[in-house]
Amino acid sequence: MIDTDKIIQSVDIGKAIEYYTGNRKIHNKYLCPFHNDKHPSLSVKTEKQIWHCWSCDKGGNVINLVRDLYGLSFVDACKKIATDFHIDIQIEEPKKKDTWYEIEAEIRKDRKEELQEVKADIDKEIELLTTAHRVLFRYGAPKELCNQYVEEIEALEELKKIAR
Ligand SMILES: [Zn+2]
Repeated sequence: MIDTDKIIQSVDIGKAIEYYTGNRKIHNKYLCPFHNDKHPSLSVKTEKQIWHCWSCDKGGNVINLVRDLYGLSFVDACKKIATDFHIDIQIEEPKKKDTWYEIEAEIRKDRKEELQEVKADIDKEIELLTTAHRVLFRYGAPKELCNQYVEEIEALEELKKIAR
């Protein structure tokens, strides 16, 4: 597995935006590379090393940035950042089932923080869980772990029906 925290914490997000987009900071914001941005609408939060575009609503950390900017896989984006910013990371396939549960716990922790920020709107929650499920599934996490997400998503869909 990859030490994604190390990558995220090692690279100043503002520097990464400048490095990968060639856009300089103007009035504390950057031109967004993901839409036709005329007035800088991409802002960064250095304490968390995250970025967000207020116009097209894209955002995330340096890994999402590079992945989407270059159309890379998650792992290849990590490798590219590590090379570009001289970060020493070990990339190996997770072998033990336990490792998957650790990764899942991390994802869940991140999702939880994001959810609190969006005030736990059901649709947003479904979206976040769907993304988490997709990531786990794509990288071959155990089936029962993936199924937990499917069950949670289904439960939320049900809740939505009742709530309306
Ligand atoms: Zn944008």
